[in-house]
Amino acid sequence: MGSSLDSDAIAGFGAARAAVLASVAEACARVGRAPGEVTLVAVSKTVAASRLSAAVAAGLTLLGENRVQEAESKAPLLPGAQWHLIGPLQSNKARRAVELFDVIESVDSLELARRLDRLAGEVGPAEGLGVYLQVNVDLDEAKSGFLPDTLETELPALVELPHLRLLGLMTVGRLVDTAEQSRETFVRLRELSRRLGERLPALGPGLSMGMTDDYAVAVEEGATVIRVGRALFGTRDQQLAQWQGAAGRP
Ligand SMILES: *Cc1c(COP(=O)(O)O)cnc(C)c1O
Repeated sequence: MGSSLDSDAIAGFGAARAAVLASVAEACARVGRAPGEVTLVAVSKTVAASRLSAAVAAGLTLLGENRVQEAESKAPLLPGAQWHLIGPLQSNKARRAVELFDVIESVDSLELARRLDRLAGEVGPAEGLGVYLQVNVDLDEAKSGFLPDTLETELPALVELPHLRLLGLMTVGRLVDTAEQSRETFVRLRELSRRLGERLPALGPGLSMGMTDDYAVAVEEGATVIRVGRALFGTRDQQLAQWQGAAGRP
């Protein structure tokens, strides 16, 4: 059983990171953006902390998790990492989330925002807790997130919350066959952000959108944050094989 910090593992993650950043740079070049405008969140859900230490050593220092408990078990083992919550947050886990995460990308209701604001005032960073407002721009019944009309109505109350910094909007695209089919979703989020930001400049310009299959399209449409899992860590099946290999096989 080799050390998780072996140089092969670090080199592997370094190459995967470089490949994603190269695609980001190409997408930026196609539309005249600067690659520095795009932040890569490495989505590390289901990836063991032992593997993640090599990923962090390879420069994947910003990690995205969709469960509070999973992040809670990994964070103490990865002191060099920063954490974004990208999954639905239950109110009984909100306090722990504020303590653990640097940014919460999945704020999907005014009620949750109010709770986070209160908690951030107690245990959050002095400069305020950074959040994204998750929007269900496709009006997809299977998705969480503010409906665009609801967000428009509730945004004046959201921008008044003193302990939250509204960094921007976030969306999870529909399940699609080709990346190109996601473009409309990303355009909708960008347009909504522009319209709301004109009215209420306290809403930041950030756009968290795009995952492994469609992040290049998202970057073309203005993403400032992309959330990429499989392109960096492999599929869940590959992860399982890796884990069994590391454990000396059952
Ligand atoms: C899992 C997940 C991702 C990453 O998906 P990949 O297809 O593995 O890149 C991004 N955003 C959210 C909200 C996720 O749950």
